[in-house]
Amino acid sequence: MTETPTRTTDASTAGSAGTAGTPATGATVALVDVTKQYAGHRALDGISLDIRPGEFIALLGPSGCGKTTALRALSGLERIDSGSIHIDGVDVADVPVNRRDIGMVFQSYSLFPHLTALQNIEFGLRMRKVPAGERRRRAAETLDLVGLGHFGARYAHQLSGGQQQRVALARALVTRPRVLLLDEPLSALDAKVRVQLRDEIRRIQTDLGITTVFVTHDQEEALAVADRVAVMREGTIEQIGTPEQLYATPSTAFVADFVGLSNRVPGVLAGERVTVLGTALELLGDPQPDGAVFALVRPEDIRLTDSGIPATVVASSFLGSLRRTQVRTDDDVLLSVQHEVGTHPQQGERVFITLTGRPVAATPRA
Ligand code: ADP
Ligand code: MG
Repeated sequence: MTETPTRTTDASTAGSAGTAGTPATGATVALVDVTKQYAGHRALDGISLDIRPGEFIALLGPSGCGKTTALRALSGLERIDSGSIHIDGVDVADVPVNRRDIGMVFQSYSLFPHLTALQNIEFGLRMRKVPAGERRRRAAETLDLVGLGHFGARYAHQLSGGQQQRVALARALVTRPRVLLLDEPLSALDAKVRVQLRDEIRRIQTDLGITTVFVTHDQEEALAVADRVAVMREGTIEQIGTPEQLYATPSTAFVADFVGLSNRVPGVLAGERVTVLGTALELLGDPQPDGAVFALVRPEDIRLTDSGIPATVVASSFLGSLRRTQVRTDDDVLLSVQHEVGTHPQQGERVFITLTGRPVAATPRA
């Protein structure tokens, strides 16, 4: 063992154990009007979802909206009150957890502390009475797949958080399940490792073609990895779509607010148009009653211009590839504007802003 802990950063080049080019093996998964109550509280309030074989779905929503309950229901850890769950077309109501052919990874690393990484990965195969030789071969192959080929003899306390989650991922994948469920698997990791492992999970998932449901409250994470994102709110799915669809055409103000960054700008809705800062913009989503609203305007839909609406710079932050500047209009509306790093507004500077005219979502203003 001569390798250093930094080796995991090379993981993207690690061998993927002959899995490349393997046809999709993932199952179809369907939830049909699933409900689940806890002591009168509807944790799941009629969830329906169709997932294609090999698809990567993110369940995104604030804490308490029912994401974990949905995963536990899928896995069989939780019984549902009504509705049905189908894996490859089969209603799994009476199929116990260990027969659903599902791999799971949780937020906490949950490795057995008295077992090595390899023994942890072998565990599921041991339960299935797979012979020792084959068990070791498959565990080693899966450890390679997650980029930890040389770490098999380590115990959990000898691995970093990111490495432990890789082992947990290998443990979930070693039985080659048809569905992979991940519940906030990156939440305990620091920012850089999060992004690395997130991309790695997506790569492995694509290689294996495994149908995946990934739960997160982090919208950036969901948009970055998923084929489609289901935005959840209070036990229901508010909208499901590709990351691009959710971002550009949120069907509700909740989605517009939760996905990406938005300014809440006072405006007036009349019919299908919202007038904000003197500009009439098309309304996104379902029709709503006319009246006072907050329009949800993306920072990139506001420009710093040579003429337009006068405003004063409050603050400006450098974000690497772009800059975000806060301005206050003379009507006292605070706005976040996104622009190129070449422009560097100073605090107190007088500027002008213009809306690009892109459609906006809106929510009633009390
Ligand atoms: P999320 O994962 O989105 O944060 P959960 O699915 O864990 O949300 O919880 C959804 C709702 O159900 C919350 O209001 C939570 O308090 C409640 N809940 C979850 N598990 C239980 C339980 N075992 N007993 C009672 N209430 C629960
Ligand atoms: Mg949860």
